[in-house]
Amino acid sequence: MRAPLIFLILIILAVLALVGYNSGWFGTPSSAPTHTTAGDILPGGPLPDGATAEPDEPVGDGGAEQLPDEAQAEAPVDPVKTPDVPSAGSFGHFAAGDLLPKSGSGYLDRTAWSPQLCFPFAEDAFANSQVYGAGGGMGPQDKPSQCDASNYSLPWRDNFCESRGHASPLCANGKGHQGQDIRPATCKKDKHWVVAAEDGIITDMGTYTVTLTGSAPPHRVYRYLHMRMNQLAVKEGAVVKAGDNLGKASNDFGGTPTTIHMHFEIRSGVAGTSTDGKAVKLHTFLPPYQSLVAAYDRKRAGQACQ
Ligand SMILES: [Zn+2]
Repeated sequence: MRAPLIFLILIILAVLALVGYNSGWFGTPSSAPTHTTAGDILPGGPLPDGATAEPDEPVGDGGAEQLPDEAQAEAPVDPVKTPDVPSAGSFGHFAAGDLLPKSGSGYLDRTAWSPQLCFPFAEDAFANSQVYGAGGGMGPQDKPSQCDASNYSLPWRDNFCESRGHASPLCANGKGHQGQDIRPATCKKDKHWVVAAEDGIITDMGTYTVTLTGSAPPHRVYRYLHMRMNQLAVKEGAVVKAGDNLGKASNDFGGTPTTIHMHFEIRSGVAGTSTDGKAVKLHTFLPPYQSLVAAYDRKRAGQACQ
């Protein structure tokens, strides 16, 4: 008679324990979800009105670039209307956001995101479009060579937000080229040094990318693409000073090479707002052009990087 009684008591205790657990009598289990209100965002769930999803990280090395001969959809008409003439300055350059006509949506932000940027080449260099310029996949038919003099002379030209499929939140249509393309002093690969944009640490290396994270707040993240990866001057984890050599401008792009140029990105270390009122989240791609122009001015004036 005694065994069934003990068995019954054990069952009652087990039921009580289960009910108590689910009712929170013993506190909320750490792995159990707490209540979900209507406003909560579940992973993968819809975002509240007005919110935008974090832009996808480029897969692996990126997708931040594309092959010069890769087919592209026709670019939308540039909604950013600025005079198609060089702006005033100490060297010839078109204004920030003034992309080649019909090469992309452009952008309106005018923040110099890295005001003390160290110009990322040791020598002169030429910011312009490697896709829509001479020798590019969308370039002029009568200029088939990437070594055309037009690519290696002033004026500079902005190409942030040039037509691409990648998420780039500050672009007028939310998509576009996530950095600035810069050609080295001459059309010769593996020769011209690319240097550190500020004091920092080499935090990542891909098959054709090198990432530098600034040591000082706001911990900007700079990404350099297409250097000669088997001849780099730094390794992952290296501590570098502004102006230190990182590697040589080349055309590394994983498999099929790209044109000889360095794709340069600045990503935000903190949240903020662009001058046209767009939300800048952590690691949002930022337009580098204004900072590059100022850095090149300082370089040309003989100022050392700090
Ligand atoms: Zn690029």
